[in-house]
Amino acid sequence: MRVMLTAVIDGVRKDTFDRLMKNGKLPVMEELSKNAVKIERCISSFPSATVTGHASIATSSMPSKHGIVGQAWFDRERKEYVGYDFELTMPDNWIDAKTNLNDRHLMCDTWYYKAKKIGFRTFSADLIRKDADLKMSFILPGIDRDMAVPEKLFFLRRFSKHISEKKSGFLKKVLLKLMPFHVLQHEIVSGNVLKAVRAGYNFGIFWFMETDAASHIYGPETLEGEHGKPYLYDSFEDAIRDADEEIGKIFNSLKEHRVYFNITTDHGQSRLGSGKEYHVSLSAELTDHGVNAFTRIDPHEYESRVGKKAQAVVAPSGPRMAHIYLLDRNVYDRVYEYLLENRAVEFVFWKHDGRIMISDGKTSCRIENYNFGDEYPKAVERVRGLLENSRSGDFVVTAKKGYEFQISDYRGAHGGLNVEDSTGFAIIYGPDYREESIDEIMITDVLKIAIDKFTE
Ligand SMILES: [Zn+2]
Repeated sequence: MRVMLTAVIDGVRKDTFDRLMKNGKLPVMEELSKNAVKIERCISSFPSATVTGHASIATSSMPSKHGIVGQAWFDRERKEYVGYDFELTMPDNWIDAKTNLNDRHLMCDTWYYKAKKIGFRTFSADLIRKDADLKMSFILPGIDRDMAVPEKLFFLRRFSKHISEKKSGFLKKVLLKLMPFHVLQHEIVSGNVLKAVRAGYNFGIFWFMETDAASHIYGPETLEGEHGKPYLYDSFEDAIRDADEEIGKIFNSLKEHRVYFNITTDHGQSRLGSGKEYHVSLSAELTDHGVNAFTRIDPHEYESRVGKKAQAVVAPSGPRMAHIYLLDRNVYDRVYEYLLENRAVEFVFWKHDGRIMISDGKTSCRIENYNFGDEYPKAVERVRGLLENSRSGDFVVTAKKGYEFQISDYRGAHGGLNVEDSTGFAIIYGPDYREESIDEIMITDVLKIAIDKFTE
């Protein structure tokens, strides 16, 4: 059987990846590269965030078309805060990851749909699963079991904070110790991939999550030996070497098949500055500026908790990017000025008479007239590819170097337009392919190139 597998290794910073490849630390990917189209720079869609990136890979389209405009957004019609928060051990994740929420949120067809048309039987062990014939879990061994009454879990949202905060509290540390999913996720997902292929499903996309978690917690450039300790899972290198090993296991277990393997990432990651000032809660600061702003909950929840009129919703992604929605037009000027003067904000984007505008705090102009330079790959195209979707905020902001829009103790984050957040890699392997290389593509091109080459 001919099998096409796509592994999305989450949040792989390009220069760290190159360094590890050069030093022979990723032997499986190095070997596969010899029969592959190697993409030097694979540029994320905007925001450079997980759900958006996975949707862009699985649909080959931008958020303007697929509708996943970030890790979180505000649904104006339903007056609902939509959030995909993939902390494996946190209640928020039990809601989103297990109930196929994005089947409802995705606005276009996926590659599962297209692959079926050319004769594949499809499976997903990824968070994008719409149209897949078989939906495997990416957290637990076996198929994903839909919860019969997901609504009942929404009561857990009452424990959500309405300002951005993601500290490793005591409870979270205990949960991590008791349920060490983090260490096992790669192994679980590759086990599920093998189960699916052995059951006759021959087109699948799957997700290695721990690289991103390690990057957030330890920093995107952390290497074993330089920053981490041997035999402890405490660097980005540990996580990606583990992914490399799992890819090798999958490959070796499927020797009787003709396996085509695409390996890519959804986004990169930036190092955060050390010190409290680099972790900024926009909703808390807006509140200090006299705007009733909040995040993570619905407006009615905010109003009943705080007893004030809801005026602005902040929906961060990565979280070096955020959508800001105004529920009260009277605060427009106050929010705009606050964003322009904010020490953590790099760019502000908004729409004016159907045109996309940008300000960097000094100059404001139409986006096509702004000179981004090399530090922001394909910026104009990517910003358009987000703001053209009406789910986008009234303002969209990115964070300056070293900053994130959340109070956390993390050392890495992503979401922005900058080169570190936005540049990844791709390896498109086929048993009969010759080594070739392409300088730069968008992540939306990876599966297009793979399928074109496969059907050639
Ligand atoms: Zn990610």
